[in-house]
Amino acid sequence: MIDHRGYPIGFRDMPPMRALATGKIVESTLLGLYHHRRKQLTWVSATSVPQFRPGADRPHQVISLFSDVTELKRDSALFLRAQALARVGGWEWDGGRHRLYLTDEALRIIGRRDDPPRTLAGVLAQVAPSDRPQVEDAIESVIRDGGAFDLEIQVVRPDGESHWARLIGQAEGRAPMNARLTGTLQDITQRRQIEEALRSQARTDPLTGLFNRDGILSELERRLGSDHPGTTVVYIDLDRFKLVNDLLGHSAGDHLLVNAARRLERCVGESGVLARFGGDEFLVLADTEHDPGEAEALAERITRAFGDSFRYAGEEFTITTSVGLARHPEHGKSVQQLVNNADAAMYDAKRRGRNNWQVFTPELARQQHDRVQVEAQLRRALDNEEFRLVYQPLVALADGKVRSAEALIRWRSPVLGEMRPDHFISHAETTGDIVRIGAWVIEAACKQMAAWRAEGFALERVAVNISYRQFLTEDLPQIISDALNEYGLPGSALELEFTERVLIEDAPDTLHTFETLRGLGVVLTIDDFGEGYSALNYLRRLPIHGLKLSHSFLQGVPGNESDVAICQAVAGIARSLGLDVVAEGVESPAQRDFLLGLGIRTGQGFLFSQALEPDNFTAFLRQTGLHTPQ
Ligand code: C2E
Ligand code: MG
Ligand code: MG
Repeated sequence: MIDHRGYPIGFRDMPPMRALATGKIVESTLLGLYHHRRKQLTWVSATSVPQFRPGADRPHQVISLFSDVTELKRDSALFLRAQALARVGGWEWDGGRHRLYLTDEALRIIGRRDDPPRTLAGVLAQVAPSDRPQVEDAIESVIRDGGAFDLEIQVVRPDGESHWARLIGQAEGRAPMNARLTGTLQDITQRRQIEEALRSQARTDPLTGLFNRDGILSELERRLGSDHPGTTVVYIDLDRFKLVNDLLGHSAGDHLLVNAARRLERCVGESGVLARFGGDEFLVLADTEHDPGEAEALAERITRAFGDSFRYAGEEFTITTSVGLARHPEHGKSVQQLVNNADAAMYDAKRRGRNNWQVFTPELARQQHDRVQVEAQLRRALDNEEFRLVYQPLVALADGKVRSAEALIRWRSPVLGEMRPDHFISHAETTGDIVRIGAWVIEAACKQMAAWRAEGFALERVAVNISYRQFLTEDLPQIISDALNEYGLPGSALELEFTERVLIEDAPDTLHTFETLRGLGVVLTIDDFGEGYSALNYLRRLPIHGLKLSHSFLQGVPGNESDVAICQAVAGIARSLGLDVVAEGVESPAQRDFLLGLGIRTGQGFLFSQALEPDNFTAFLRQTGLHTPQ
C-alpha cells in the first residue's frame, strides 16, 4: 500500500488505524494498492469513520468506505504532464475563503515551487511592476462584472530571471464574498523571442546589420505619426560603386559596403538612425527637432568621411558620396514624398559632379516631374517615328560658302510638343535610350548624305553628334560601318563629334575605340571644346582631326578680354597639334572677322544659317554655293 506520492505506508498510518487511534474521521485519503501477482496498481479513496460504544471515549471499531479512483488519478496525472509540456499552468482563487491554488507548472512559471504563494498579492509580487496595474484592474473588473481577461505579461522570478507569460482568467460567481476566479498561466517566452527575432530579422539588412528598407520606412512612418516634428531624410548614394563591383568582384563590393556602413555609423552617431536602403544606397533619419542645421552638418561630415580611400586586397580606391536632404514637413509630409524628394536632391548632387550634398528645392521637384514625363515619352518616341534631323551648314568664314553640315536631332512629341535636344538628350543618356536613338541618327544622316550626293551636291561630309553613352558601347564602329556600307558612302563622308565627356569617362578602351573609328576613315572631332573638362593631354594622344570651339567663348568676342584670350589659346593649341578648328555660334560679322584673324577658316552660326529642314538646306546650298576645297 502506498500513499498519494508513491511512498509505502506503514501499518499505523493507514486511514483505519489512524481513525482508531485518534477517534476522528479520516476523510478521502488517496491510497495505492499494489497487487503483486497481477502487477497492477489500483488507486482508492478511503474514508474511515470510528465507532463508539455508548459512553466510551475510545472507538472500538472503524468503518471504512473505499472507492476506486484509478481512472480519475490517471486523468489528473496526465493532465499535470500535459500542463508541464505545454507550459500551461492552472490556478484558482477562492474569494470567499481567500485561498489560492496554483498547479505545479504555474508555480514553476513564477519561480515559486519551493515557496508557493498563498495570496493573490503573493502572485502579483512576481509580475513585472509595469504590468501589475493592468493585472489588478483585470481581476477587479471580472470580480465586479464577471467575464474574462487574457493578458500577456512579464513575470520576474525571485532569482531575477524574467519570462513572458499569458495570463487568462475568468470569474465564476459574483461579488466579493463568493467570487471564484479560475484560469491558466502559460509560459510564452520562447514564442515572444521567436517573434522578436523574426520581427528584427525582417527589418535588418543581413550584410551590414543596419535597418533595411522596410525597417527604416516603418520607422519614418512612426515618426511622422508622432507629434515630434523635425526629421530630415538624408539620402546617400555611393558614387561609382558599380565600377568597384564590376572591376573587383562582389566580395570586394560587399567589403566596401560594410566599411561604408561603419563610416556612416560613425558620422551619424546619436544624431539619427541609419539604414541600408538598397544596393549602394543608405538612408538616415536625422533628428533635427532641436537643431535644424544638424542634417546639413551631418551631410558635410559624411562627404568629408569619404575623403579617405578604402583598401581591399592590397588595392586602394576612392569612393565618394552624393547626398540629398529633405526636411519634414517643408519638403514633404508623407513617407513617400520625403524619400522621393531626398532622392531628387541626391540625384541633383550627382548631376553637379558627385561628391557633394544638396537640399531639396521645389525647382528640383519640377525637374524631377519633367524628367519622369520625358523619360516615359522617350521610350516610345523612336518606334513612333517622332524624331527627325535638321542640318546646320558649316561654312567657309571667308566667303560664306557651304562646306559641310551638322545633323541636329529634333523631337516632336505628341504629348510634350516640340523638344530641343538640350531638354531630352541627357534624359536619354540616363535611361540608355540614347544608344538606340544615336544609331538611328547615324543611319538617317548617312541616308540624307547619300540622297544629296545622288542629287549632285558634292557636300564634303555630314557631322553627327555621338553621346558618351554610345561611345561606351562596343558596337559603335559596327553601326557606323554598316551605315556607310548600306548607303555606299566612304568613311570621309561622315564626321563624328564627341564631347569631352568621353575623355573623362576614361573607359579603358577609349584610345582603341578612337583608333578603330579612325580606321574606318571617318573624321573625328571634339565638340564644344573648352566647355568641359579640357583634358589637354588627351589631345596629343588621341587620333582626332579637329576641335569645335565652344560658342560660349565666342559670345564675348571681340569685346571680352578673357574670351579673346581663350579663343587665341585654343587656336594656338590646335595649330601646334595640327588640328582643324571650327568655330560654333558665329552670330556677328565682328566675330567672323576676329576668327579669320586667328586663322580659323570654318564656322557655323546664325550669321550664316540656323539648322534647316533637309529641303531648306538644299535651297540654302543652291543659293550660297558650295565651297570647293583647293
Ligand atoms: P552642338 O553639337 O554644339 O550643336 C550646336 C548647337 O548650337 C545646336 O543646338 C545649334 O542649333 C546651336 N547653334 C547653332 N548656331 C548657333 C548660334 O549662332 N548661336 C547660338 N547660340 N546657338 C547656335 P541644338 O540643335 O539645340 O543642339 C544642342 C546640342 O544637343 C548639340 O550641341 C549637341 O550637343 C546635342 N545634340 C543635337 N543633336 C544630337 C544628336 O543627334 N545626338 C546627340 N548625342 N546629341 C545631339
Ligand atoms: Mg555638335
Ligand atoms: Mg557644339
